[in-house]
Amino acid sequence: MKLEYCCPGFQALVENMGEAGISAVLKETEELTYFCLQSRTCAAVDVERISMMIPQNAGSIRIVEQTGLRYCPFCGANLQEWLAGNAKTTRYLVDKSRNLILN
Ligand SMILES: [Zn+2]
Repeated sequence: MKLEYCCPGFQALVENMGEAGISAVLKETEELTYFCLQSRTCAAVDVERISMMIPQNAGSIRIVEQTGLRYCPFCGANLQEWLAGNAKTTRYLVDKSRNLILN
């Protein structure tokens, strides 16, 4: 599916969804659908295996962290307006993000 983004930087974030490093995922709640900036220590497919390698006394280690995004961190585009104008893409990205989102 060819998707239109606000800029190449944000496209790269979305395309890295589920992989190690920084990415953008789309979270849907009953009230709101919004992008989250997500950081992963390892790819989503490796989380269970990597988690088992962390010693019990290692303290607090976060393999995945995320925070909501209102604006594109690269070009400043209002992401809620972008979502409102791209309903088909929004649905596609919500489905693709579903198993990657932290609640
Ligand atoms: Zn942008």
